[in-house]
Amino acid sequence: MSLEVHQFLCLSDNYGYLLHDPVSGQTAAVDSPDAEAINGALQAKGWTLTHIFNTHHHFDHAGGNEALKARWGCEIVGAANDAARIPGIDRQVGDGDNFLFGGVTVQVLEVPGHTSGHIAYYLPSEGIAFVGDTLFVLGCGRLFEGTPAQMWHSIGKLMALPDSTVLYCAHEYTQSNARFALSVEPDNAALVARSAEIDALRDKGQPTVPTTVAREKATNPFVRATSLALQRTLGMEGAAAVDVFAETRRRKDNF
Ligand code: ZN
Ligand code: FE
Repeated sequence: MSLEVHQFLCLSDNYGYLLHDPVSGQTAAVDSPDAEAINGALQAKGWTLTHIFNTHHHFDHAGGNEALKARWGCEIVGAANDAARIPGIDRQVGDGDNFLFGGVTVQVLEVPGHTSGHIAYYLPSEGIAFVGDTLFVLGCGRLFEGTPAQMWHSIGKLMALPDSTVLYCAHEYTQSNARFALSVEPDNAALVARSAEIDALRDKGQPTVPTTVAREKATNPFVRATSLALQRTLGMEGAAAVDVFAETRRRKDNF
């Protein structure tokens, strides 16, 4: 690990992230949920903002772009295929693109589904990824602009990262996600144990984010479409994974 990640709450349930390279002195905000909160975090750390890495166009992710760019003159990185909706975008990136942040390689993964132009940022040498609103702890983003098949494919890309990869999600939705997850996989022992851990963390006001690929594979119903127990709850034994995922998402929307 050569980068420092600073995580802080923004708005009501967003996480802001500052990514700092102590060698070059560069600092990136992953999304810009709240310019004031990000400025406060920068000031507390004594860091200068050089970049914004946007995951998608929603206001709670790109709403602070213009204010931050006006103050810092930072470079804004975002999805080429959604450039018109990313305020102040300077560098347009797409699937498989690599760029350097300080001395560290950042890989871009297109993960459409929540929005059509949603991207994730994967830093292989750090073993971390910023996944925006594509994947949450025990959950996944709502399908505002994509099909279940698109989202299932996007989630599959994230789950194909090494098991130890640390995933930084953009919201603290975990406790309500856990309630839903338990409703569809009540006998998943790893999920039951994790749910108790989550309640304990939240009782102390602590974040449940980040997570890891391995933990989500074991407990997140939205990546577990091949779980027989989940399929049985849904009455879909033997169904195609993408259909199981679609039904899981539909049920969560109405939970
Ligand atoms: Zn969003
Ligand atoms: Fe969001």
